[in-house]
Amino acid sequence: MKANYLTEGMVKKNYRCSLLGHHYVEIKKVNNHFSEYECSICKMQATNDTRGHKITLTSQLKEINETLFYLNLKKQFLSKFYFKKEQ
Ligand SMILES: [Zn+2]
Repeated sequence: MKANYLTEGMVKKNYRCSLLGHHYVEIKKVNNHFSEYECSICKMQATNDTRGHKITLTSQLKEINETLFYLNLKKQFLSKFYFKKEQ
């Protein structure tokens, strides 16, 4: 009986998402234009495209975001480094 209750609960959660849409919470900021999101209800991950629309986070997109994230870090590090040098 208990197991049945659990499965029912899970189905209802996903049903809620397909009915009302996912409740995305920002989990990682990639740079000024891109972020990664996770639905707080069903844990589905998403990112945004160049027009700001939410799209499903595939492993390929995750790799791109990772690259952008490190490029951004490198850029920030370099700008700080050069800024310090000029002073
Ligand atoms: Zn969801």
